[in-house]
Amino acid sequence: MSESAARTGPRVVALGPRPETGLLSTTAVASTNRARVLQALADHGPLSRADLARHSGVTRASIGGVVSGLLAEGVLHERPAEASGSRRVGKPSRPLWFTDRGPLGAVVIEPGTVDVGVVGPEGQVSVRRSVALPPVDSTAEFDAAALDAIRSVLGPQQRLAAVGLALPGFFGPGGEILASTTIDVLPGSRLPALLAAATGTTVVLEDDARALALGQRWFGQARGVRDFAALQIGDGIGAGIMLNGRLHRGPLVATEVGHMTLDHDGELCRCGQRGCWETLASLRWLRRRCERAGLPGAAATPHALTELAADGDAAGAEVLDEYAAHVALGIVNLFHVLSIPLFILHGPIVAAGQRLLDRVRAHVGDRTMAALNARPVIVMDENSTRSGLLGAAAAAVTHQLGVTL
Ligand SMILES: [Zn+2]
Repeated sequence: MSESAARTGPRVVALGPRPETGLLSTTAVASTNRARVLQALADHGPLSRADLARHSGVTRASIGGVVSGLLAEGVLHERPAEASGSRRVGKPSRPLWFTDRGPLGAVVIEPGTVDVGVVGPEGQVSVRRSVALPPVDSTAEFDAAALDAIRSVLGPQQRLAAVGLALPGFFGPGGEILASTTIDVLPGSRLPALLAAATGTTVVLEDDARALALGQRWFGQARGVRDFAALQIGDGIGAGIMLNGRLHRGPLVATEVGHMTLDHDGELCRCGQRGCWETLASLRWLRRRCERAGLPGAAATPHALTELAADGDAAGAEVLDEYAAHVALGIVNLFHVLSIPLFILHGPIVAAGQRLLDRVRAHVGDRTMAALNARPVIVMDENSTRSGLLGAAAAAVTHQLGVTL
């Protein structure tokens, strides 16, 4: 057990799957029914009692009692019928949903910046601040700078229900940060424990790309969607992949889609391997490619390139199309291997808008096996600048409600 998993005071937890329940005693059946009901809501969004019985596997005879108990305890509440999130027509019953347990703190660590906010139960961001971090030489300096930035927004006075902390790294079970491919000083950071002490509440750690998927599932375009991938495409490439309603973690608790090899003799990647997807479809590739094409440095963003192409710049249009083709390659591989039907693109690529999206879709179509007779749906993230915070908040709420995603 690591020192960060201190047993006293606010806790730090790394989000992960909960243990499977085996054979059950009669008292355990009641708590299992409760857990099934909560899990069904997390999986499907707000549901009527009838739908809840169907989705949870709890019998119609038992569902009333289970729901009454959860309503009495204030765990759930009934939503007005007219504001129903139910996707069924003609159901007069009021859908059930989780009761607001208080505001959630959200912190997203990226290379050079910390994004901090307070998020409400429906994904409203009420307070927000993005702080540039000064260059640091050590983990201790990083911790101090990041904590300063976070404390300018979050503190014990806000009575936060929990704080979600999303960062680019691998964690141990007690929340110890073991490695990071994008922030050198992050391994060994005590930030999660320091943040728990500073806010007086539980800190829930999650990988930044997986957090994006959780945010889409709780608050965004993937509510009730069982299979999808949230792709973060920027200086690096990451993915949060939801399969059969659960976030894929794997036994190593790390998935590195950005480092799938796409070019046998390709360029050296920062991971030490060659020809990774990141060497072909990250902003680093885009900057190098723009330079080779003689385009000005300012053109080396997906947004600026799109504007150039729209203005009729042939070189800009060519680079943009090549970028789209490279982004498409990774998507096609993920689609062929995992049969993921929905990809939500996040990061600076979103600012490139419809023109780039159309090109990515076209390249994916060209590269997808015709025999599959299907293509994935590819969309841009609609929450754009809020998505990181929503993801961190979603990690916190997932832990807080005791459900598995
Ligand atoms: Zn790599």
